[in-house]
Amino acid sequence: MNKGLKIFLITLLVILVIAIVVLTTLKLLHHNTQTENTSPYSQTAVNVMQELNLYDEINKRDYSKTVETLLETNELEKKYLDDYYQIDYANITNFGTVINELLNKNYTSEEINYITKNMASDINILLNMDYVNILAFKDITNFDINNLERYLTYQEENSEYDLATVVTYVNIGLDKEGYSEYSEYTEEEAQNDLTILVNKYHKLPDDYEPDDLVALSYSNGYTYYLRKEAAQAYEQLSSAALLDNVIVYPFSTYRSYDTQSKLYNRYVSRDGREAADTYSARPGFSEHQLGLAIDIRSNTLNDNLTDKDYEWMLDNSYKYGFIVRYPKGKQHITQFMEEPWHLRYLGIELATKVHDSGLTYDEYYDLYMK
Ligand SMILES: [Zn+2]
Repeated sequence: MNKGLKIFLITLLVILVIAIVVLTTLKLLHHNTQTENTSPYSQTAVNVMQELNLYDEINKRDYSKTVETLLETNELEKKYLDDYYQIDYANITNFGTVINELLNKNYTSEEINYITKNMASDINILLNMDYVNILAFKDITNFDINNLERYLTYQEENSEYDLATVVTYVNIGLDKEGYSEYSEYTEEEAQNDLTILVNKYHKLPDDYEPDDLVALSYSNGYTYYLRKEAAQAYEQLSSAALLDNVIVYPFSTYRSYDTQSKLYNRYVSRDGREAADTYSARPGFSEHQLGLAIDIRSNTLNDNLTDKDYEWMLDNSYKYGFIVRYPKGKQHITQFMEEPWHLRYLGIELATKVHDSGLTYDEYYDLYMK
């Protein structure tokens, strides 16, 4: 071996050794600094993770604010560590406690993220209940968490309905006997809002009487009153109907609380309360007290509307601001037997929307008016 080659090899060896020494030192140094203070977690969190023997486990993963928060409040449960990494931190009271309780109830991280994002102020309702498949309600716009227990009970008893139907029906109140629980409008609300929903769950004040009742042009010795706007609309409706050879006569319009009371009591003594409740509203619960409802008949000999005239009303009355309020096949929703003859004034715009929706006003009101 010549001298030059020897020197070259020795030099190479020396460089190699130096390189190894430098690299090893750097690596050691690096490791030391990491265990000292490069953890992205707060000192409190670091202390707790060291107590739990989770320092390496946690620091080899990406930083998580959720994990940090649970460490800081000393609520981190080892068995949920993987879940915590899937849970987004949310700025809510008792975050750690809430997360752990939801995990205890078997909520998934996806569900928990949805809950903390969308139902933050109502989480207690969920914490007081067993696990609920909450994501099933995600796209139901009229979902009201305050009714959650009722939805679940009603769904169990009515498995033929889909969840959206369950929500609407419960919101209307159909899981409870009509009249058992109801809200009451103020006189101002009744007077100022032509669109209020009156049914077995929404009552008018006993004393309420509209202040703008006017007589219809039709009279048969008896004068028929409606609120001014509804009266004008009715004149247009009946004229338009006439052009299509649909001739109708009013037979009941505005009825005061007292009139309704006498009428209802007469039906009760004739047919019994249970039967009367299927076709006559109790006083305070009648649309007729609003002065916005009108019963029409096809001839003056009996209080009925022919199928032909009923069809015409279904197809056309909305153009004049009226809807058929108790259509056939909807009594499980309206809580009244079909009344083809009973029209309710809502104004053209709203009546058109209700007509186009194909819904009863009870449903429409819950879905779009609250
Ligand atoms: Zn009626």
